[in-house]
Amino acid sequence: MVTTERDYVAEHRDDLLHDLDQWLRIPGISAQPERHDDVRRSAEWFADAARRTGFPTVEVWGDGPWLPAVFAEWRSDDPDAPVVLVYAHHDVQPVDPLELWHTDPFEPTIDGDLLRARGASDDKGQLLFHLLGLQAHLAATGRTSPAVTLKFIVEGEEESGSPHFEELLATHRERLACDVVVVTDTGMVAPDVPSTVTGMRGMVAATVSFHGPDLDLHSGVFGGAIPNPATEIARLVAALHDDQGRVQVPGFYDDVLDLTDTERDLFAKVPSDEGEFLKVTKSRALRGEHGFSTLERLGARPTAEVNGIGGGYIGAGHKTIVPSDAFVKLSFRLVADQDPATIIKGVEQFVTDHTPEGIVSHVEWEGSGVRACLVPLGTPAYNALSGAISEAFDGAQVLPTREGGSGPEAGLQAAVDRPLVFLGVGLPDDQIHAPNEKVTLSMLYKGAEAAALLWTRFAEVGAEALRSS
Ligand SMILES: [Zn+2]
Repeated sequence: MVTTERDYVAEHRDDLLHDLDQWLRIPGISAQPERHDDVRRSAEWFADAARRTGFPTVEVWGDGPWLPAVFAEWRSDDPDAPVVLVYAHHDVQPVDPLELWHTDPFEPTIDGDLLRARGASDDKGQLLFHLLGLQAHLAATGRTSPAVTLKFIVEGEEESGSPHFEELLATHRERLACDVVVVTDTGMVAPDVPSTVTGMRGMVAATVSFHGPDLDLHSGVFGGAIPNPATEIARLVAALHDDQGRVQVPGFYDDVLDLTDTERDLFAKVPSDEGEFLKVTKSRALRGEHGFSTLERLGARPTAEVNGIGGGYIGAGHKTIVPSDAFVKLSFRLVADQDPATIIKGVEQFVTDHTPEGIVSHVEWEGSGVRACLVPLGTPAYNALSGAISEAFDGAQVLPTREGGSGPEAGLQAAVDRPLVFLGVGLPDDQIHAPNEKVTLSMLYKGAEAAALLWTRFAEVGAEALRSS
């Protein structure tokens, strides 16, 4: 009797639940040094699980400044098969405030189709469905090795901002060589709306300081006769956007890849409820770049935001001064193909242009910035992925979405220099990073099935076509 991927997953759900129950009990919180032994235990646990699944090569990489990461490799017996690198992370977010949890975050509890625990969705559940999916792939195809050579890189510092990930990638560059990357740390629009992330924004961030007189001055004796740095920095902030919400940094939009008509049509099909959006954000209005929907503004357009602003006297009562200093903290979310270095130059030009006589400006950057990453629609890798997801969801159309935030994916893409696709089955209400994190079990089963089907589809496409995606 030949089994199908779906049947195998259905028959082995308990294996996944059993594994999740064990792994979710390990509080591998990378942000908390006192939990770093648990991060190590978490890595060892996944390494064992990969060995049990049949991976011939499994290594815990603890040979650097990073917290332990796991590398697993299973070569296809077809030497020409594509090489696929799967990225995920095994560390979890802190759980504070603990009193807001209805159950112990490290005592997994199942309630119908929901499993609650820290890491259930982000990212342990999403990584573990791959092990079940791989077994389903082997059982359904009758193979003894996967149709593609599979490599897994499972990071242990993602929830701390992946501070050493690029160094880890550089150290192990040759081992991580591949034709295509599958990122498994994202979600879908809704249980009945299968979707895939097709982009993440990049970012640059800076603190701009304005220095006026070398000391705070009496506003009665001197005010009105010298430039006030707080007033002047407010002018700079006000000049950041025009009345259409467009960012006024020179050259800001020059390299922005516009959405194609197909992308805009598909974006428009993604169900989005602006009332719900206002409820979630607790905002009283929507505002952004003129001519774009909220989803487009969040995923496909670059932004400038003021993250903080200050200067002068901000204590109790009143102090009548012309302050010596003022500052503003700015961040710019970037989209493909904006280059962080070009944007940095543009912002510095903007600051220079808005620094009046008598003010000394200074721009302090937070690192060199992160590029956006983009999955173009219609490439062989994208088509194989959306085909596999669609099959797992009974033929439903797979919609492209974009993430507004930034992650380690752009660095990963740059390091391996290969196309990326996203297979994630989290849901918007999973409460990742928040109390009462949960995952929908039927989504994990769909993920396992999609992964099982994906390896067959990637093998059919072939290494060269995947690489050129
Ligand atoms: Zn995550």
